[in-house]
Amino acid sequence: MLKGMINLKVEFVDLTRMHNEIREEINDAIMNVIDNSNYIGGPQVKKFEENFAKYVGAKYCVTTGNGLDGLIIGLKTLNVKEGDEVIVPSNTFIATVLAITYVGATPVFVEPNLDDYTIDVTKIEEKITNKTKVIIPVHLYGQACDMDPIMEIAKKHNLKVFEDAAQCHGALYKGKKIGSFGDLTEFSFYPGKNLGAMGDGGCIVTNNEDYAIKAKALTNYGSAKKYEHIYKGQNSRLDEIQAAILNVKLQYLDKWNSFRNVVAQKYLNGIHNDKISLPVVKDGNYHVWHIFAIRVKDRENFMNYMSENGIKTLVHYPIAIHKQKAYEEYNNLSFPIAEQIAAQEVSLPMFYGMTEEEIDYVIQTINNY
Ligand SMILES: *Cc1c(COP(=O)(O)O)cnc(C)c1O
Repeated sequence: MLKGMINLKVEFVDLTRMHNEIREEINDAIMNVIDNSNYIGGPQVKKFEENFAKYVGAKYCVTTGNGLDGLIIGLKTLNVKEGDEVIVPSNTFIATVLAITYVGATPVFVEPNLDDYTIDVTKIEEKITNKTKVIIPVHLYGQACDMDPIMEIAKKHNLKVFEDAAQCHGALYKGKKIGSFGDLTEFSFYPGKNLGAMGDGGCIVTNNEDYAIKAKALTNYGSAKKYEHIYKGQNSRLDEIQAAILNVKLQYLDKWNSFRNVVAQKYLNGIHNDKISLPVVKDGNYHVWHIFAIRVKDRENFMNYMSENGIKTLVHYPIAIHKQKAYEEYNNLSFPIAEQIAAQEVSLPMFYGMTEEEIDYVIQTINNY
């Protein structure tokens, strides 16, 4: 234990701090749905789709049962199928790659930048073949990928761009919100995401009306008109109660994101330790710090030390996708940067409502390591 420090405990994330501030509004929203008895595809879903599209600056929003379904439905909307190749960063959460293989396509991995963890745009073009159909940039940890060169490459090679923004609600790239750079963008409303439901949820946003209509039908048994089925769709819809909760929470997203930025600035300014590599924010980006990802060479030792001092840390993600059992066919591939991140990444506590005392305690504890 550090001398002179109060014996604090710091959770990795504590959602009760944000929810306690909006308790009444959430209760009213839920009761309102119950009073209306309209649980699937009701007015709250419609309102949320309008609100969220407007928030991110896209024309259409189609809600889904979760983020993974959003990715699968988006790929189906773009007609991606067996024989197609999809470019994806080698260091994403597994959902991005699961969606690609679920539709029968082949993931083609591109290494990330070590300092900001987003896809290395200089390594995309060498991976393009005549089978490549889509690029999926993942705005990992809350920071936008370098979208200008990605859009240029896509245009040059006639490829679609489908953004995975599951960790990036409200982030900006060159002053513009993530949500309408590519052809389609997927978001997740998993509870721990910057905008989270109280259960599963997700969506796709787009400016393309045809895509919006097709995606909507795919979420609802492939049907745009009741009992007429145009596609072999699925059942993947956002619940009315979750939509009502999200309509309340969306109003606070900017406030919560700026709070995360205050915490992040304190970490960036306060942490001084040669054993720690801090994350880099690229010029022109507004980072929303879904995850504050540092790198430490002796990770196990560091995490034990933090834990002994009452601070919870996590790893996002400990095994690179090409090294997972589920993807045995790629186990012999080598992506040294993704592997290095998988071996060294540590996520620090980051959530709305962290106290000054907690933030300072995390900083002091790291500086004394
Ligand atoms: C959370 C997440 C998803 C999947 O979202 P779910 O709602 O959990 O299905 C997809 N991609 C990334 C990068 C994520 O972080």
